[in-house]
Amino acid sequence: MTLEIRDPEDGILLGRVCTSTPQDVRRAIAHIHRHLQTDNWPLRSRRVALENAVQLMGEQSERFSKIIAAESSKTIVEAEREVRRCMETLRLSAAASSELTGETLGFDDSMAGGNTIGWYSRKPVGIVAAITPFNDPLNLVAHKLGPAIIGGNGVVLKPSGRTPLSGLALVQLLLEAGVPSGRIAAIVSGPGVSEALVTDPQVDLISFTGGPQTADRIAAAAGAKKIISELGGNNATIVCPDADAVQAADAIVAGAFGVAGQNCLSVQRVYVHTSLFEQVLERVIASTKALRTGSKLDRNTDVGPLISEDEARRVEEWVAEAKAAGATVHAGGKRRNAYYEPTILTDVPSECRVIRQEVFGPVVSILPFIEAQDAIFAANNTEFGLQAGVFTQSIDLAMAIADRLHVGAVVINETSDVRIDSMPFGGFKKSGVGREGVKHAVREMTEPKSTIIKLA
Ligand code: NAD
Repeated sequence: MTLEIRDPEDGILLGRVCTSTPQDVRRAIAHIHRHLQTDNWPLRSRRVALENAVQLMGEQSERFSKIIAAESSKTIVEAEREVRRCMETLRLSAAASSELTGETLGFDDSMAGGNTIGWYSRKPVGIVAAITPFNDPLNLVAHKLGPAIIGGNGVVLKPSGRTPLSGLALVQLLLEAGVPSGRIAAIVSGPGVSEALVTDPQVDLISFTGGPQTADRIAAAAGAKKIISELGGNNATIVCPDADAVQAADAIVAGAFGVAGQNCLSVQRVYVHTSLFEQVLERVIASTKALRTGSKLDRNTDVGPLISEDEARRVEEWVAEAKAAGATVHAGGKRRNAYYEPTILTDVPSECRVIRQEVFGPVVSILPFIEAQDAIFAANNTEFGLQAGVFTQSIDLAMAIADRLHVGAVVINETSDVRIDSMPFGGFKKSGVGREGVKHAVREMTEPKSTIIKLA
């Protein structure tokens, strides 16, 4: 069977990829398992392979950008940024070789101590299954492959069936860079493939990024395996009465509509103090209306299409639900094929899906508050807990609000849309389990192992 990969902008066929079968999955895992038992691939060689990969990606950056911009929703400018991010992720993965250290065990200071020495060091968990979503089709793959490789693991990648080309190209590049074929494999979505991957007894860790419902299905199938999951967000930004309204409004627009809102860190709900509400709303509306929606390859385009027309129809339906419940549409609110216009809503009742669930599209709801505690309560009143932004000039207020927000990161005087690769990235509640970010992922993908010697 083959998978047709089409450009979401115009439906043009970009290529066909052979789908994998459950038997392919088992073969790939058995191949890696055999190599992990027999070969010794030293840390220095792993680091050098990742350094080579950074160099190769620099040389092929244009090709990678074009693949991303063709198969995904990203504009060419966003795709180029993702390639640069990927190089950074691979560079930090190489540098994370310094994380793979241990300690001497204190036998000398223990009741059991006499004539014994020991130490522990970090060892690979074994085989990592890396399962990735469509929205950052290259760098979210690198976030798993880089740490898995430096940690000494074998890794099997299953990229999103909607955007597999970027991830497959990265695996190819890593092989060229010197990663042995017994350490890495890629499989492509096909009937029974995901289940074969997550249930295989030789898979020691599942590193998953995607939606919470998929995470539930994986956890139910995988049983007692270790699972790191990076899931959705429904991120809030709070604008306090002493905030710089212009700074906040500009950041909200910048953080809401990148990749047409298909970003786990996107700004979705904005709580603005009533004293600044009109000022912030007016500027957000004007800036949103000025955004250019268009072709991904046009460098002047700000907002590209959603990943599919079905996704754009879903967003259209959610906005229609909000309108029917009393919401006002101030900008956008229209669909054309896979495009959905950047949309600003007010007066949205809290039970609407655009407030309760993850929109994963270019829709922002702006809501007023009077007391800070009401904004905190509303921001936390969601199943998700990924990141949040707070705008204020007061350090005391910033600290007080940050302390109470139940999220993986609070960003002061910026929105939720901030990530660097050294952050312990992840969320509370339905936003995931465990943390990514290179050195944190390396720790998740390795375990301490003790060696103890009884002296004669
Ligand atoms: P998705 O859950 O539909 O798919 C993610 C991956 O899981 C794909 O590779 C898919 O083929 C695979 N998959 C589907 N069913 C499976 C199963 N039963 N077993 C194993 N694998 C299975 O997600 P998506 O639509 O591609 O991506 C959007 C979601 O990803 C959003 O919720 C977004 O917030 C989230 N996301 C989170 C982060 C983060 O780091 N927190 C980053 C990007 C995206």
